[in-house]
Amino acid sequence: MLKLLKSYNPLEAVAGSPVISSFSVRASGNMSLSYGETSLSLENRQSFLSPLNVDYQDLICAKQVHGNKVKYVNETDKGKGAVTYGTALPGTDGLITDIRNLPLGILTADCLSIFLYDPQRPAVGLLHAGWRGSKEKIVSCALELMRSKFKTNPVELFAGFGPAIKDCCYEVSDEFKDNFTTGLTQRQGRLYLDLAQVNRKELIGLGVKPEKIFDAGFCTVCEKEDFFSYRKEGKDCARILSVIMLR
Ligand SMILES: [Zn+2]
Repeated sequence: MLKLLKSYNPLEAVAGSPVISSFSVRASGNMSLSYGETSLSLENRQSFLSPLNVDYQDLICAKQVHGNKVKYVNETDKGKGAVTYGTALPGTDGLITDIRNLPLGILTADCLSIFLYDPQRPAVGLLHAGWRGSKEKIVSCALELMRSKFKTNPVELFAGFGPAIKDCCYEVSDEFKDNFTTGLTQRQGRLYLDLAQVNRKELIGLGVKPEKIFDAGFCTVCEKEDFFSYRKEGKDCARILSVIMLR
């Protein structure tokens, strides 16, 4: 079923609250500054973000390394990685902030982006969770940092998932049985991983309420008309931008 999305809000259940959250789609174009033509990516970022009332020059992005390091950012980080890859925050796969009008960005193509919103502080977070980051429990790292910085109570937290490769398409090797105790399914002798399921279980294990976790269930491979897939398209694949901001 083709959806041919123009936009989608992964935290739409809290629409009306002071949080902006969205992810780009294939029609939005490539959002990466480390791959492809930078000037075109900047145009794409501006076209995608301006209807959300987000200034693309304020965006904070990271040099993502499939790790579990989450960083608290504030005004001094504004615009890092917004117009050049060189200024992006090194070695970081998750960003959190309680500063308003500070947009956080994560780039993906198959990996899961995880949106976090603490309505009490209020505060937001955005994570890049592929299999490595999920194995290294980036969700736990983020919630621990949000607890120490913002006194975030997981019971209050809302979480949303961006598009990612799902277990319909994400075949993995048998060694993944050593890495994951959940999220794996076996079909006709083959093993498949569901990143959303792994991270949902982790969030719930940390005290997040299941009814506060939202997943539109988009598979980047099945729905290639709407998204980019690294597995399907290879290393020259364009990137999806996920963004969250307190307003
Ligand atoms: Zn699929």
